[in-house]
Amino acid sequence: PAAPLRLAGNVTTGFGRGSKQLGVPTANLPPAPLAEQLAQLPAGVYFGWAQLNADVSWPEADRQVHPMVMNIGRRPTFGDAQPELSVEAHIMHKYSQDFYGQPLRLLVLGFIRPEMRFSGLQELLARINADVGVARSQLGTPRWQPYREQLAAEAPP
Ligand code: ADP
Ligand code: MG
Repeated sequence: PAAPLRLAGNVTTGFGRGSKQLGVPTANLPPAPLAEQLAQLPAGVYFGWAQLNADVSWPEADRQVHPMVMNIGRRPTFGDAQPELSVEAHIMHKYSQDFYGQPLRLLVLGFIRPEMRFSGLQELLARINADVGVARSQLGTPRWQPYREQLAAEAPP
């Protein structure tokens, strides 16, 4: 995206297709309230920063800003492409617990690749792992650090 895009919402349940079992849990945001912002973005994979605005009783590390890789799309690898967009972020942090229902904020900074249909789960998974690598190395460069601080500073108390 030309300018960083902010997406926020309370984490909802996804499709239960076992992202977590595959080692890449994705926190889903309800897409309907984000329709206007999503209309600006092509379906595909993005990188950026994420912050879980959980209660102060949660471990400090869980409430900090972490790198994330995000998919916006219709999940074409899983049978018929769904009519409604899904927004899901894999956050590169080991959380102390699941966070369904919690407020999550994403700052979307860059595009990795368009959405595509894979011939199977192994192919999809290999590509997801590559996407995670791209996101991690991008977000490790000085270029994106100010946005990390920006998101942290904007966090509601
Ligand atoms: P669902 O289909 O319900 O989205 P997933 O298998 O994708 O299930 O798991 C997502 C859930 O896992 C998130 O909603 C969140 O509560 C939890 N979770 C734990 N660690 C992470 C993480 N690092 N990134 C994203 N979600 C995580
Ligand atoms: Mg998910």
